[in-house]
Amino acid sequence: HNHIDHATVDKVRAAVSAGDTHAHIPEYQGFDAYSSDGGYAVLKDLRANGDWEVVQETVLSSGLRGLGGAGFPSGRKWGFVRANPGPRYLAVNGDEGEPGTFKDRFHLEREPHVFLEGMLIAAWAVEADRCYIYMRDEYPALLEILRIEIAKIEAAGVVEKGYIDLRRGAGAYICGEESAMIESIEGKRGMPRHRPPFVAQVGLFDRPTLVHNIETLFWVAKICREGPEILSGVEKNGRKGLRSYSVSGRVAQPGVHLLPAGSTILDVIEAAGGMAEGHTLKAYQPGGPSSGLLPASMDDIPLDFDTLQPHGTFIGSAAVVVLSDKDSARDAALNMLRFFEDESCGQCTPCRVGCEKAVKLMSAERWNQPLLEELCVAMADASICGLGQAAPNPIRMTIKHFPDEV
Ligand code: SF4
Repeated sequence: HNHIDHATVDKVRAAVSAGDTHAHIPEYQGFDAYSSDGGYAVLKDLRANGDWEVVQETVLSSGLRGLGGAGFPSGRKWGFVRANPGPRYLAVNGDEGEPGTFKDRFHLEREPHVFLEGMLIAAWAVEADRCYIYMRDEYPALLEILRIEIAKIEAAGVVEKGYIDLRRGAGAYICGEESAMIESIEGKRGMPRHRPPFVAQVGLFDRPTLVHNIETLFWVAKICREGPEILSGVEKNGRKGLRSYSVSGRVAQPGVHLLPAGSTILDVIEAAGGMAEGHTLKAYQPGGPSSGLLPASMDDIPLDFDTLQPHGTFIGSAAVVVLSDKDSARDAALNMLRFFEDESCGQCTPCRVGCEKAVKLMSAERWNQPLLEELCVAMADASICGLGQAAPNPIRMTIKHFPDEV
């Protein structure tokens, strides 16, 4: 991943020196285009005479689940947050720091107002006093788009000035964990909180907080505008819905591919133009480094929530990385643990020390498997948050599926 796209860098430099500082901002659907396409009409109707429980039912019937990685049924969260007295807040997780994930960016840099309307619908549903958008700073174009477009909806009277608070992350992976994100928005060091209490009860500034991922809110608006069938009507391999797979690695056309949620790795590779020339599928990471690696022989599993659980992994944010016969599963797993070692917030010992020890053990010529397995149990059982709990996955799965390499 140290590859530098010199052509793009040169293009941006040339544009900037020619005085065009916004050269990096892609073409997107702005406020005028979205409004004339019927945008914000649903929000207006709901605010005038909508029933939040009807909208909740619609969202539940679509089957929409949290697309940040956890997969919790989106509509149910609204009920939990509303069960607690106000003032309540909505916090949008736009940190998208899971390596290999770029689907939020994909949707946002094309249709930012779909997301904004979805956010305002969810905020209306839980009677949020304020919305906080936590956007990763590594997406400067998106920050700029949001600044421009939020100002436009304020000027048009869609929201009061100051109702939406746009915050920048500072490059910490752990701030994508919802409670660490909340700490960060509060101005503190981003470290995950113990649960309970859950953020729906005690969240941002100790108030009940609804946390949604960018893409989840994008679909909330789509569902409200076009009906729940846009998701529930898509069926494949017994699974319903759509999934925005962020595909990278040894494929011909890396990128975001919107496919049925029941797609297998072979479907995903096909959508990505097949394998890159000269490469044969060896392994794949189904959902970010915490999901570890599956071997090519397991190519018939629908890549959806729940379906990967029996195999000791999960789809997470659907960050699919394809490895070929030219790659080493062992090196990939070590790279994943190095990442966790770097990104551990250091708050708890099993993760802070465990990741470091795992990296040392995995760097040896032969892995000390019994010791690594013992370490995995301690990390999975005793870490505070998902980072430390899931960090053993790449170790366990590499031992299981690629024993010859370790
Ligand atoms: Fe921090 Fe790791 Fe503990 Fe999570 S598991 S709280 S990242 S030290």
